[in-house]
Amino acid sequence: MSDNRSLRLARTAERIVACERCPRLVAWRQEAAASPPARFAGQAYWARPVPGHGDPKARIYVLALATAAHGGNRTGRALTGNATADRLTAALHRAGLANRPTSVDRGDGLRLTGAWTASAVRCPPPADRPTAEERDACLPYLTAELDALADVAVIVTLGAFAWDAAALQGGLRPRPPFRHGAEALRPDGRTQLACYHPGRRNTSTGLLTDAMLDATFRRALELCGRA
Ligand code: SF4
Repeated sequence: MSDNRSLRLARTAERIVACERCPRLVAWRQEAAASPPARFAGQAYWARPVPGHGDPKARIYVLALATAAHGGNRTGRALTGNATADRLTAALHRAGLANRPTSVDRGDGLRLTGAWTASAVRCPPPADRPTAEERDACLPYLTAELDALADVAVIVTLGAFAWDAAALQGGLRPRPPFRHGAEALRPDGRTQLACYHPGRRNTSTGLLTDAMLDATFRRALELCGRA
């Protein structure tokens, strides 16, 4: 069963990595790779779509907005290589869902246990703003990963965009409004749980604190019956 699950996830990952459905984002992922900030100059960028990453037996699926131009688009792993990734991974580590508190690159030894991380839009969008069409084009990959990850009970959505994407994918009608801490039971029996996005804009202003992130994952574990 677990091997079959891993195989399905691997096949989904292959499809994602080869995807060129959104011309604007195909161009942007390459443009970002061609003009890195000075601190990443000379690095070989992944510059392809980024599949989800984590434990095939995950109970918690963490859904972010989109791949970061100089994070996942550089490193080739979801939620890896920028400040958002480190903030999130530190919280996963404190919750017992990650074996280390930072997510630096694909060779850093990060292992998630009971969790899976991905973005609703798997390529980086200009100004971190994907269009509704790009979101919709990418949703089948969320469906494919969730279908393979049969144990997922809770989807932690980071920010309103991810919340809406999960609600659309899960068939929640009418779409519930985003509010930090909101919960919605989906027709598939999974709960989606809302958290502010742990990007620098929200963490530096104090809109989202580490204590709030910890409370989110405590609640997610409770909902999984693991608290
Ligand atoms: S955003 Fe998603 S659908 Fe669009 S090109 Fe990237 S992987 Fe494909």
